[in-house]
Amino acid sequence: MSAESPLKDSGFEAVIGIEVHVQLKTNSKIFCSCQNRFGDPANANVCAVCSGNPGTLPVLNRKVVEYAMMVGLATGCKIAKISEFSRKHYLYPDLPKNYQITQDDRPICEDGFVPIELEGGAAKKIRLKRIHMEEDAGKNLHVSSTESHVDLNRAGMPLVEIVTEPDISSSYEAKAYLNRLHAIVQYLGVSDANMEEGSFRFDVNISVRPIGQQKLGTKVELKNINSFKFAANAIDYEIERQVETIETGGIIYQETRSWDSKNQKSFAMRSKEDAQEYRYFTDPDLPLLIIDDEWVENVRSRLPELPHEKLIRFQKEHKVSLYEAEILTSDIELAAFFEAVVEICQNAKHASNWILRNLLGYLKEHKVKLSEMKIKPDMLAELVEEVSKGIINSKIAQDVFAEMAETGKYPSIIIEEQGLEQIGSEDELEEIVVKIVADNPKVVEDYKSGKDRLFGFFVGSAMKATKGKGNPVVIQKLLKKHLS
Ligand SMILES: [Zn+2]
Repeated sequence: MSAESPLKDSGFEAVIGIEVHVQLKTNSKIFCSCQNRFGDPANANVCAVCSGNPGTLPVLNRKVVEYAMMVGLATGCKIAKISEFSRKHYLYPDLPKNYQITQDDRPICEDGFVPIELEGGAAKKIRLKRIHMEEDAGKNLHVSSTESHVDLNRAGMPLVEIVTEPDISSSYEAKAYLNRLHAIVQYLGVSDANMEEGSFRFDVNISVRPIGQQKLGTKVELKNINSFKFAANAIDYEIERQVETIETGGIIYQETRSWDSKNQKSFAMRSKEDAQEYRYFTDPDLPLLIIDDEWVENVRSRLPELPHEKLIRFQKEHKVSLYEAEILTSDIELAAFFEAVVEICQNAKHASNWILRNLLGYLKEHKVKLSEMKIKPDMLAELVEEVSKGIINSKIAQDVFAEMAETGKYPSIIIEEQGLEQIGSEDELEEIVVKIVADNPKVVEDYKSGKDRLFGFFVGSAMKATKGKGNPVVIQKLLKKHLS
């Protein structure tokens, strides 16, 4: 992101904290044995426990605890030996018990951090205050202005909430943090982290203050943001709005605002006066959660290589730049794809170029996922090899790539079927070059009188005459010979 920060030269600094809710990919819900699955028919996965019938008892899902521990250990948190669940009370149609089971003052994880890279390559640690487990609420479906339905499939789905310290100071850092945290939970395999389906959602708290002031400014909470790009836009907008308000003598109200991505504006949803008193207390139905060292070490031993570790390894082992490594490691499948290509063709630089420029470009343009792509790692590796062996030139390789993406055919098949092999024979190319020079005496004269850029005309003509298949290096060599 290169857009100028709205803070530049303003004399203000921003103080930002982020809360992320991650839906965990366990088989069953957090306190009952109902299926934990997105996309089923409404109320298909509901029982007496998750629909809040009186007299039922919640039973904690061990897998949820392990997943929460994994997120905590991957972010350097302390895992609490004893933690507990609390009830958070509020009234809403999607919450039949009228309270949500969550963790309040004794969460499972505390004091962690997420490392991010800043522009220019410096690093920063965003500290985590806590990570706690909780159940999700159901979902209201508003059919019309007079009719609403409640779907309780989501009620009791397991969540972890990850809360930062207010360590983030720009939209760039916020985006870097969200990207990294998203990659961490994806690498751990604890969540689909699918933003469209709501399994990775976040709220952003922002305040501004004059540089040098100790006291924090009034904070505003931004809700309902569902992309990292929108988060960055919303933060920049909100910083600018707050600085302007203060500079013109206005007052910032503590409130919740929503982001309207269409009009690129935030608008007030509710003020703090409407804030609820949740009356938290320890849930008497759930025992204290005791975690011994053995369990922690067992979970720790199963942690995979993490995104920032892979980032460092890719730069060392594959000699890709920080920028390339950041993109390649931002998604675990993409990282695996890259390494599978390199394993075969042993050319990380070219593999990275193809992936960053062509493959990601194709996925974006055609709105497909990597797993749906017809080009598999061995096919891309073959293409890299065909180019480095000089069988096709890099221009033709672009066409071959497009054909591979369309048909799923191996490059060697496409090259053979379409006769795309590079013409590298000097004899064959010399004939073409001699003819072009003979056919264009005027251009030759101009070139010789000092118009060097006309060299491109000759290269272009020769490439055209070979239908793009000429070896550009040989063509240039021959042209220099015949034009001097
Ligand atoms: Zn249930």
